[in-house]
Amino acid sequence: MRERIVIANWKMNGSREANALWVSNFLAEPVRLSCRTVVCAPFIYLPELTEACRNTAIEIGAEDVNENASGAFTGEVSAAMLADFGIRFAIVGHSERRRLYGETDNRVAMKAVTLVKNGIRPVICVGETLEERERGETPAVILRQLNAVLAVLKPESIGAIAYEPVWAIGTGKSADPATAQTVHAGIRARLVQAAPEAGKLTPILYGGSVTPENAASLFAEADIDGALVGGASLNAQSFYSIGEAL
Ligand code: PGA
Repeated sequence: MRERIVIANWKMNGSREANALWVSNFLAEPVRLSCRTVVCAPFIYLPELTEACRNTAIEIGAEDVNENASGAFTGEVSAAMLADFGIRFAIVGHSERRRLYGETDNRVAMKAVTLVKNGIRPVICVGETLEERERGETPAVILRQLNAVLAVLKPESIGAIAYEPVWAIGTGKSADPATAQTVHAGIRARLVQAAPEAGKLTPILYGGSVTPENAASLFAEADIDGALVGGASLNAQSFYSIGEAL
């Protein structure tokens, strides 16, 4: 049985007050979700969120990490620092970081490695742009992004892969379940090729305009093991509903 996970990606949103309200709203839901629930938040809120969610069903993750161990990298946060605060998950390779901050496949792979060394599960994002999809390059782009990681990590070290088509992020235009499943099946095949047993167990999450309305149809697909949720995760009830659909 593969693990099923929903991950909130708050991006650069939140405040101490709003975060506390989110946690109390989420925990007010009477039934505990059967899937794993992770909230990825801006670095500065991680210690406070970790405290607030101690002994609850909510696990706390980071949205990024620097690939170096320590040193002269002004403004950056290392994996050891995250581990120091008990952080168990971190997103790497989000398309916003690739696009806005020029992160390469290689750098994403190095970030994943430093996380694993520090006992943190990397959630590795892959995905094609609209132009790449229209040119028929989707499988090649996903494979290139995945291969960079598989060159340095075994599938058993990968916390999760998140397939996030760039054209679906924050657009309200989710990939339809069959389209997403086709890509997920390709990712699964590559993972199994790299490790016949462990490759079957890596959770593959879908991200890109997931909502309480479309979650169940996405989760019905064979290789969609959960979701990485941006916009809809800012509302605790919406995020809970997405978890309920899993
Ligand atoms: P979205 O974002 O759910 O707002 O589309 C997903 C993400 O960027 O991880």
